[in-house]
Amino acid sequence: MTSGWQLVCVQCGTSWPALSLRYRCDCGGTLDVQHDFAKAREHLTLDALDQRRASSDFLDRSGVWRFRELILPLEDPTLRQVAVPRGEGNTHLYECPGLAREVGLQQLFLKHEGENPTASFKDRGMAVGIAVARHLGLERVACASTGNTSASMASYAALAGLKAYVFVPKGKIAAGKLSQAIAYGAQTLQIQGDFDEAMTLVEEVCNQVGIYLLNSVNPFRIEGQKAIAFELLQDLQWRVPDWVVLPGGNLGNNTAIAKGFIELMALGLIDRLPRIAVVQASGANPLHTAFHSRKELVPIRAETIASAIKIGNPVSWRKSLRGLHATQGTVTEVTDAEILDAKALVDAAGIGAEPASCATVAGLRRLVREAIIHPKDLVCGVLTGHVLKDTGVIVDYHQGQLKGIPTGKANPPQVVESSLEALLAKLN
Ligand SMILES: *Cc1c(COP(=O)(O)O)cnc(C)c1O
Ligand SMILES: [Zn+2]
Repeated sequence: MTSGWQLVCVQCGTSWPALSLRYRCDCGGTLDVQHDFAKAREHLTLDALDQRRASSDFLDRSGVWRFRELILPLEDPTLRQVAVPRGEGNTHLYECPGLAREVGLQQLFLKHEGENPTASFKDRGMAVGIAVARHLGLERVACASTGNTSASMASYAALAGLKAYVFVPKGKIAAGKLSQAIAYGAQTLQIQGDFDEAMTLVEEVCNQVGIYLLNSVNPFRIEGQKAIAFELLQDLQWRVPDWVVLPGGNLGNNTAIAKGFIELMALGLIDRLPRIAVVQASGANPLHTAFHSRKELVPIRAETIASAIKIGNPVSWRKSLRGLHATQGTVTEVTDAEILDAKALVDAAGIGAEPASCATVAGLRRLVREAIIHPKDLVCGVLTGHVLKDTGVIVDYHQGQLKGIPTGKANPPQVVESSLEALLAKLN
């Protein structure tokens, strides 16, 4: 086993063996993977990473395992035996001149994490979480989910031959995501409560019966999601953007991306850090409140149409604030109306993404308007999930069926009589 890397408590600093079956310190604090940088430095050069991208080996081709020395530093034959050959990551970085103009920027890139195998960024963290589950010899995995974590876990567990248990808030996740969990064969338990209640319960269940917990409280999920930061820089030929903007729910992803940048800087592979901007829905904004009041996070009851970020008691808030401070980042909030207006733009640009993802673009527009992001800044937004994850919202928006939401960009389907004249008369 590799030595020199370990888990460290975010709250009290106690360290624990890297590959141990624990998600929290005895003090209750969440844990961080701390790497052996001297060891990682031996293999990770920008040239080596670019060469791996062109290789046909499944570890090199994966947008997660390409960066393995800084993610899960197992020796090669071991890693090869536990990793699912899947090719996660390698998502497209879109240059979006039209959207840039809409939000007031000269240049905007959007990295579309909806282009992962199960159509959200959760696959990056899950690839690593599942590999660790196998390495620890565990046969059962579980998660609470607003939808995408369960879709991803169900799929990776099936491929790895593990039994999967999914806890979702009943009636509160999009049909696309629920169908994935069911289809991939997870036992799906719809809890009569919200995500935050499901999250508390799943952690208790896992601790009680020894099922491996794959929510982002699991430090290895964070390690996999760091690869978004690495790959994004690789897409930009290692040019460091001024800002990286993404939505925040349970706050694992922004924690991960910040950690990734900080580690690349520690390794000397980049010479400055991008600033991270987290966008929350105004009905699910406990980080926004904590960040701007400089106080501890106070849980709230969350409400937003963007179900993937409808979280009132985010598990990674402490790690998240650490990353925001280290990168001189910020937190903003946007209304559901702003999210859906931005979604109409992202979708009509031909890119498309689920509602939570489009909080990125809505938040960007707000930060440019407030002169926090400047028009000349090099900005990269993260689109977190695929447009088909939540088709209900699309149809309702375009047919004007969402209460209190202005539908200025609606493109409703039209009914037309079955004749050539009627059709020609309708074309605009
Ligand atoms: C999980 C998820 C988020 C939120 O990410 P956190 O790590 O929980 O902050 C945002 N968008 C989509 C599509 C997601 O699936
Ligand atoms: Zn501790």
